[in-house]
Amino acid sequence: MHLLVIEDERALCETIVRSLRRLAYSVDLAYDGEQALRLLEVKRYDLVLLDLNLPKLDGMTVLRTLRQTDRETRVLILSARSEVEDKVQGLDAGANDYLAKPFHLAELEARIRSLTLRQFTQQDMLLSCGGLSFDTRSRTAAVNGQTLTLTRKETGILECLMVHQGGQ
Ligand code: CA
Repeated sequence: MHLLVIEDERALCETIVRSLRRLAYSVDLAYDGEQALRLLEVKRYDLVLLDLNLPKLDGMTVLRTLRQTDRETRVLILSARSEVEDKVQGLDAGANDYLAKPFHLAELEARIRSLTLRQFTQQDMLLSCGGLSFDTRSRTAAVNGQTLTLTRKETGILECLMVHQGGQ
């Protein structure tokens, strides 16, 4: 799972990147809008975390430019602009979700899971690897057809491993 974090507040950017890398996401970062667009031109991301107030090129311009050629990449706006109007404008411009700053890292992580999982469940409901299978709707795992009893945490870890197995 490849993520791009676009955020000019370096301390916040690094906190987010560190916590996402700890969760085994592959993460790139950009500190301004121009740098972000250059990365988006050459690399494909599963999800982009986008701040709106950015130097050089603002986040809305980055989003609109991306959406001219790419409707697939998920975009989650992270912004201190929490007015309803800004949210509506961001979602209308093609963002998939909006999180107002300040936010808790746990909420950010949950939204990332939801956005990336939604993308993948639309494509595939049953994942398999050797004799192991995982049903993403019922969230149950089985080995050679035999259902496994797992805790919520174990289920989450297994699901994460199954989703990432293709080098995604
Ligand atoms: Ca900013």
